[in-house]
Amino acid sequence: MKNLQAAWVDIPDHSDFSIYNLPFGIFSFQDEFPRAGMAVGNQILDLGIAAYHGMFRGILDDDTVFDRPVLNSFIALGKKTTSAVRLRVQEELCHAESKFRSIDKLLVPQSQATMHLPVHVGDVTDFYSSMEHATNVGKMFRDPENALLPNWKHVPVGYHGRASSICVSGVPVRRPWGQRKPSDGPPVFLPSSRLDFELEMAFVVGANSSLGEPISAEHAEDSIFGLMVFNDWSARDIQKWEYVPLGPFLGKSFASTVSPWIVPLEALEPFRVAGPAQDDPEVLPYLKTSGNRNLDLTLEVVIETKSGVSDVICRSNFRYMYWNMAQQLAHHTSNGCNVRVGDMMASGTISGKERGSFGSMLELSWGGKEPLTLSDGSTRSFLEDGDTIIMTGYGEKDGIRVGFGEARAQILPALTPSEEIE
Ligand code: CA
Repeated sequence: MKNLQAAWVDIPDHSDFSIYNLPFGIFSFQDEFPRAGMAVGNQILDLGIAAYHGMFRGILDDDTVFDRPVLNSFIALGKKTTSAVRLRVQEELCHAESKFRSIDKLLVPQSQATMHLPVHVGDVTDFYSSMEHATNVGKMFRDPENALLPNWKHVPVGYHGRASSICVSGVPVRRPWGQRKPSDGPPVFLPSSRLDFELEMAFVVGANSSLGEPISAEHAEDSIFGLMVFNDWSARDIQKWEYVPLGPFLGKSFASTVSPWIVPLEALEPFRVAGPAQDDPEVLPYLKTSGNRNLDLTLEVVIETKSGVSDVICRSNFRYMYWNMAQQLAHHTSNGCNVRVGDMMASGTISGKERGSFGSMLELSWGGKEPLTLSDGSTRSFLEDGDTIIMTGYGEKDGIRVGFGEARAQILPALTPSEEIE
């Protein structure tokens, strides 16, 4: 990749939003309507204003595609168009004589903007594709000797999640009430006391597929627009009681938090790496992929507490995934199920081999048996009211950095019981 330098926009060193990134999001500034923008350093490039002044002439027929509160219509134009828009911005920002450098309000500070959920999410799916995570959970809840279930290395296991409760970074999360079962008594309905995060990445589907027509693993990446950091909040006590036999339900559906910018897959090309060998057992032909399909992205989870602690509690990497995104999408559509632009597919908790790389409190505190000690001496098995979880992710290689910003949310106390709840 050639060495690029922004010519007329200040981009701080080590910014997530380098000239190589240029992710898409939806922002509003002051009391204006939400619309499409692109993160550049600490600023946002207003794509609608750029279009109005002709930056995308010859690429876009409809200049108003950015003046909408979600990116679905833009993404639906297809990768050829969305990539061309991104490359045109890159070219102009690197061009010292660009006529766009003098346009008023083309760039606004991120610190003064409000970010919004960038796509209308029609459907959300959550996979379970980290072998280390699935093994940890199997050891804790089933059989330490046979932790992985027999299907796990054959099927990219997943379930259909909830789209309505996906929140953009910054929106607080209310501790849910739910039914749970104490070991020594009947079920009770109370606020969850085992509230947890799950460190995940999610991809956004970039093209509609037709009902009845599977997407092949080899071509699945053509249907992936970009990626975000995804926190799949989980209430472990609710989950444990409800999940048999149909899987997660209210223990998961109360909220998920995503980072605000969608980083296009092409911006992540420099970070491609090989995935783990899939020869024991060999995967079925419809799931076979070739080439480097995993991404070397450093992931971190920070906890901030009301007492002022700010500690990194997990360092993991997206490269640890056993099943890659192309396999997930191929499997998802292998029965003829169609997908639509804006659908979100999360990876499943991304854990590494060591304790410090486990992507949930459930694993970090080993089911609550070995609480974490934070830097002020306080301990955590699960999350407390007032705790804030901040997830970040980035790739960095040969001086190129491409990051996702933050998926951040604070835990609010459970609602006070109403007469009906009591
Ligand atoms: Ca999950």
